[in-house]
Amino acid sequence: MAKPRVFVTRELPGDALKRVGEYYDVVVWDKYQAPSYEKLLEEAKRSDALVTLLTDRVDCNLIESSPRLRIIAQYAVGYDNIDIGCATRHGVYVTNTPGVLTEATADLTWALILAAARRIVEADRFVRSGEWYKTGTGWHPTMMLGIEVNGKTLGIIGMGRIGRAVARRAKGFNMRILYYDVRRLSEDEEKELGAEYAPLERLLAESDIVTIHTPLTPETEGLMNRERIRMMKKGAILVNTARGRIVDLDALVEALKEGHLAAAALDVFPQEPLPPDHPITKLDNVVLTPHIGSATWETRTKMADLVADNLIAFYKGEVPPTLVNKEVVKVRKPGFS
Ligand code: NAP
Repeated sequence: MAKPRVFVTRELPGDALKRVGEYYDVVVWDKYQAPSYEKLLEEAKRSDALVTLLTDRVDCNLIESSPRLRIIAQYAVGYDNIDIGCATRHGVYVTNTPGVLTEATADLTWALILAAARRIVEADRFVRSGEWYKTGTGWHPTMMLGIEVNGKTLGIIGMGRIGRAVARRAKGFNMRILYYDVRRLSEDEEKELGAEYAPLERLLAESDIVTIHTPLTPETEGLMNRERIRMMKKGAILVNTARGRIVDLDALVEALKEGHLAAAALDVFPQEPLPPDHPITKLDNVVLTPHIGSATWETRTKMADLVADNLIAFYKGEVPPTLVNKEVVKVRKPGFS
């Protein structure tokens, strides 16, 4: 039997694809930019498997136009770019890369919390631009004052893998932790993390720093709208390393301009890449990073390894280890036979 064909929409770090090559005929899109939707459609039609990124739109049209397609291995934990319901109906397995990117994303979240609270990026610009030199003084009691993190209240929206990893790190800063999630943790888990459940409105009203860790779903899209941003404490900080469309960016810009919020830090945006003329880029009290939550060599390599594990398990007729649409097994058995 000829090897099944897998189309990989970008080069991946490490040697995971070599491993995949023992079972699949691997075709890699080797350009830096994502393939167009039309190109992806053309490749999907000829493929038995796809390796996708969050920038690849895998809609029902694409799935229905690709009768050979059996598995979509997403190189990310989030899969809001894929029509999961449609994939399941057509017996197409969808896998993701949970867990392996949790710590890296929690680290980035903390880097952003501290950068926003202590004005790190603004301070760096102050030094480089010569503004510090122009002041003629090396140290002043009110130069670049920020917000103390130690002992403050941290509000975590979405207490899953990453939310909990962020909470664990907050212990080192002696923080009070409030969390909101659709599901409450067990009493033991709450105790271990030192976290208290709060309805969203109370979390927003009481937190000095609010950080978002939910997936993007119809329920979370626009969750942080104008009204909820207004519910946040005056002088608070908003951090988003989840998905851009969870926050109303225009409302956030307004709240920052008016001084309702002290600062914000964003790794994700409704449109990526963020156009450089977007009003948010003009604000000094905002830290912006280009969707780099999982961007360490170690994590991106582990993500590729997990993609390979999923593809190889599927090839062998096994249920892939991190299957998203678990009900698909009732529609079709794993494997290509
Ligand atoms: P996770 O373990 O599934 O955690 C998400 C949590 O949010 C779960 O507890 C989930 O509850 C909860 N949730 C779902 N809908 C909600 C709602 N409407 N309101 C409140 N809570 C809700 O996922 P994770 O691994 O922590 O990742 C979280 C998200 O981070 C991913 O989906 C991805 O979009 C984003 N991410 C971004 C980067 C980056 O590069 N910036 C990197 C990694 C991940 P249930 O389990 O009950 O649904």
